[in-house]
Amino acid sequence: MLPSIIDVAQENCLTINPRSLNKKEVYAKCPFCNGEKSANQYKLSMNTENNVFKCWLCKASGGVLEFESRLTNRTFQEVRVKYFGDNQKKRHYVEYLSPKQLRKIGWNEYKRKSREDFIKKRDDVLRDWRDYEYSEKVKYFALFMVVAHIDDPKRTGTLLEWIMKSVEETGIYCLFSTLLEQFILEENQRTTWAKEGTEIARMAWKCSLSTGDNTMQDVVKYVLLTYFLSKNESENQKKLKGVI
Ligand SMILES: [Zn+2]
Repeated sequence: MLPSIIDVAQENCLTINPRSLNKKEVYAKCPFCNGEKSANQYKLSMNTENNVFKCWLCKASGGVLEFESRLTNRTFQEVRVKYFGDNQKKRHYVEYLSPKQLRKIGWNEYKRKSREDFIKKRDDVLRDWRDYEYSEKVKYFALFMVVAHIDDPKRTGTLLEWIMKSVEETGIYCLFSTLLEQFILEENQRTTWAKEGTEIARMAWKCSLSTGDNTMQDVVKYVLLTYFLSKNESENQKKLKGVI
């Protein structure tokens, strides 16, 4: 229920004109008139019937919730929640995934066909999205590590641009800056996917050194190859566990 505008005024220590108390229009000194000499007059009118306020000097006006929000320096939403509770429905994470993101994990058509069925499957969708996100992070972190360690600045630049563009295509928000955040950390402080990526980058370097295929394309190729091998391996392990 909405509070009464007079209660809000009194809670916030407004100076009310005593002669107007208990009338339909109650007057107070306006807290929104900043430093004006006339601010000492009772120019703020509060209508107790409609629960609204208006200052005849600075023209501030609005309803009781806006009044409280301005007096207490809180957002309108916060004040609204104070009186009405947070009854906005909480949506499941996957309902925020864009069509592009859903396409990446093969769920977009499904959602388009039936939203209801999609909602029923949302835990599966979430698991697929998390898996996808994780493996893309591993892959691009490995590539990033390799590219960042090339001695040729021009080449590094071109390849970084390529990575930047590719990560945008993944549909994972802010992936490039996420990679950077992990990159500047010490290896043992990195998160799991970044550690995995580092390991893959290291293996790919070794492969390219031992085979003599050490042009950048080769190294990138090795990164992808190592990545896919390790991914398959972990999937096989998962399947094995499932069987047992
Ligand atoms: Zn005013």
